Order: sequence, then structure tokens, then C-alpha cells
Amino acid sequence: MFRAKYGTNLRWILQILLLITFLYSTINAQQEPSANRAYAHVQFLTGLGPRLAGTTTEAIAAGYIENEFRSYGMDTWIESFVIENSYVVEESRLSVLQPIQVDLTCVPVIHSPSRTVTGQLAYVSDVPENRDQLREHIVLIEKTKLSRELVDLPPLAILTYLENMPAISEMWPNPPKVPIVWISGRDALELIKLLEQDQVVVGLRVAARTERRASYNAVARLPGESSEAVVVNAHHDSMLTPGAVDDASGVAVVLEIARVLSSERLKRTVIFATFGGEEFGLFGSADFVIKHKDDEIAAAITFDCIGAGPENGLRIGLEDSPQYATTEWLDVCVQRIAENLGFYVQSEHLNAVGGYSDHVSFVKAGIPATWVYWINPEYGYDVLGPVHTLDDDLDAIDKIRLQQVASIGVEVVRWLAGENLEAWLRAHEFPVRAAAFTVVSVGAIILAIGVCCFARYRRGWTWGRAAWVLSLVAGAAIVLAYLLILV
Ligand SMILES: [Zn+2]
Repeated sequence: MFRAKYGTNLRWILQILLLITFLYSTINAQQEPSANRAYAHVQFLTGLGPRLAGTTTEAIAAGYIENEFRSYGMDTWIESFVIENSYVVEESRLSVLQPIQVDLTCVPVIHSPSRTVTGQLAYVSDVPENRDQLREHIVLIEKTKLSRELVDLPPLAILTYLENMPAISEMWPNPPKVPIVWISGRDALELIKLLEQDQVVVGLRVAARTERRASYNAVARLPGESSEAVVVNAHHDSMLTPGAVDDASGVAVVLEIARVLSSERLKRTVIFATFGGEEFGLFGSADFVIKHKDDEIAAAITFDCIGAGPENGLRIGLEDSPQYATTEWLDVCVQRIAENLGFYVQSEHLNAVGGYSDHVSFVKAGIPATWVYWINPEYGYDVLGPVHTLDDDLDAIDKIRLQQVASIGVEVVRWLAGENLEAWLRAHEFPVRAAAFTVVSVGAIILAIGVCCFARYRRGWTWGRAAWVLSLVAGAAIVLAYLLILV
């Protein structure tokens, strides 16, 4: 009996101890970024449809992000700015009417005018001398052959494509005079096959308007011991595409970093921001930098296009002219953090990537900034994969990449918000400066010996006098170098 009673008590005690241990470990467990949570954000954002800056879907995306930030217990707000030439597409419909009837997916070039046309399809492999014969036609032409003359002609409408590519979304420096729509390379091939057999009639309706609209930045603040801030950012707008990799993935990562760090108190303040208007020309980040010009911003880190790519595809930093390049010392320190976490990482040249991101707005304002992205080096000319095409959808996203980048991001932000960056920078630069000092000192000594030999043999100085001059010249040069380079 006693044993039984003792056994029951012991079991109770053990269970209570276990419960206490469980509760303690739950409370103290460091939050980790979650692949599923990040993926759910991408799912929501891509589910909205294209989030072109200034459209209702962009506003809904900004509201969703603001709500998420708020649910992590942070101060959050929306900042708005104007997009002079936003583009609202009500309808874009392309149908083959003869000899078969089928609807095709199409994407209007942004700022294409509204028009409903029906006409005979003409495949143009090279723009002919007599372009007038194309006037009453709807022209099908590969993008590389599409010249300004043809656009100015103009035909009724233009369908364009690239072989083996999905439909692309793009914006031209000057708005086209006729509707130009992108179709997939596969659909173009089918149309060319049809044309070989018969006349083809197609109908195209583009109902869209270019107008002045508001775009939004969603911002949240995690207060630190000092008001000096680190800005962690991505962009929530897209082209006329689902924009999963570009850049719902970056938004998802910023949200996960914010959620994980929301309960921590760091030395510096962290500002989380997702921008609108990136695709129109970095408008959101440019507006943010102007509105926050009186805030002390120590550094900015941009996450854009990070949802997919092979093991060796992580890139941190962009090399180019100072106008587009990231800040080298910041690239190096963020790269080291990623390497310490076991990732292969390098920076890339703008020519290889073919684009840049919101870091440019910060660098322009004199704020150190870097860009984290994930490429597929195998893709050759198009290392960012499906970006700016209709294939940039949920299927393009690799959940694990989202989580990996969020984990790197958490460590990077902890470091950036906790470190004495100036001291780090001085320490980082010291070996370079020490090497420069050594080179200058040795150079000065060699030069002084040369001068003394010249004075001894050509000017007839005594060795004693030459040695004095040598010591003085070399000594002065070394002291000067020390003051200029090492101190
Ligand atoms: Zn982007």
C-alpha cells in the first residue's frame, strides 16, 4: 500500500517537474524563422494577383503586411506617396477566332493603350521594307525583331514573345501607341503553325488606364536602446505577374525576421519596411529615404528575389559603378555571417544579374546598404530565373530557401543592431592599412638610400652626411605615413 501511494506521489511530482521544464523551455526558447509561415505569406500575396504599384491589390498587400507587423506587437504605420503613371488593367483578353477558337494568356506592356481590335494575324520574322501592308493586321513578332518603326507604323496591335519563355511583363521608356501584349513562346509557336496552314483571325481587348495613384510603404519599428536605426526591407509591389520570387519572397523573409526579433531588445532600433513602387523605379525606397532623412540610419539591408535557386546561388552584394553598387564593407560582414552559418556566398556584378534593387536609394543618400538575393548561376543570361514573367508564381518558390534566408537575416540584423559598426570597420580595415604603411615605409627607405648614393657619388658628400640625410628623409616619410595611414 505504502509503495503504491509513494509511486502515485512520485509520478505526480515527476509530471509537475516535466510540465515546469516544458513551460520554462517554451518561454525561453529562441524563436526560429518558420518555412511554413514564410510560405503562407508568399501564398497570400501571390493569391492577390499582380500587385502593380498604385493598384488596389498593392494597397491590400501593404495593409496585410502592416497587420502582420502589428500582430508581432510592434509600432507600425503606412507611408504613402504618388505614382504619377500607375497602370490599372481592367481586362486583357486575347482569343483566336479563326480557324479554331481558343483563348490565350497575354500580358500587356505596361502603359499600352486601351483598344478592342479584331484582325488578321501576320507573322513577321523581319520587318519588311513596305511596312504599310501590316497596317490593318495584328502582328506577331519575336521581341528581338520588334523595332520602334513597327510600333510607330502602327498595326492594329502587336503580339510579342521570346522562344522558350513564358509571357513577360515589362515597361517601355515611352508608352506604346498601340496595344502590345506578351504571349508565351509556346503559344507563339502554335500560332505560327496555324498560320502555315490557314489564315488566322484574332481578337484582342485591352482595357486599361494610366493614372496618378497612391502607392504605399508598410513600416514597423522595433525600438532599441539607441534611436540609431537599421532598416530591413523588401518590396511588396510586382510587375503584371504573380511576383512570388520578386518579391513576395523578400517580404515573407522580412516578416519572419520581424516576428523572431519582435521580443528582443537590441542596441539599435530596427525599422522593418516593405516598399511599393520598386518596379516603377525604386519610388517607395526613394520616398522612405526622403521622409526619414533626419533619422540616423546606420545601415540598410534589402531582401529581393530570394525564394529559389541551387545550393551555390546565395548572393550578397552587387558590384558596379558607385551609383548601383552595394557598400563593400557591409557586403563583407553580411557574407561572413552567412558563411559562419554554413552557406556558400559571393557577390555578383550588375552585368551578370541584369538588375538592382532598393539598396540603391539608400546608397544614394550616403547610407551603407547591401542586397541579399538568390540566383541560378546555370541560367546564364537570366540568372534571376522566372522574375518578371508569368512563371514567377507559387510553384517557383522553394520553402527551404525562404527559411534559410530568414535565418541568415535574423543573425545579420542582431549583429547590425548590436555591433559598434565603426569599431568593426576600423578593425576590418586595419590589415589593409598596415600593408599600405609597410609598402610606403619600405619605399621611403629605398628612395632615401638611392638619394644618398646619388649625393655621395655625384655630389661628393661624405658618407656621414649622406647617412644623416637618409635618416632624416626616411624618418620623416615614415612618420608622415604613420600619421596618414595608421592613425
Ligand atoms: Zn524585385
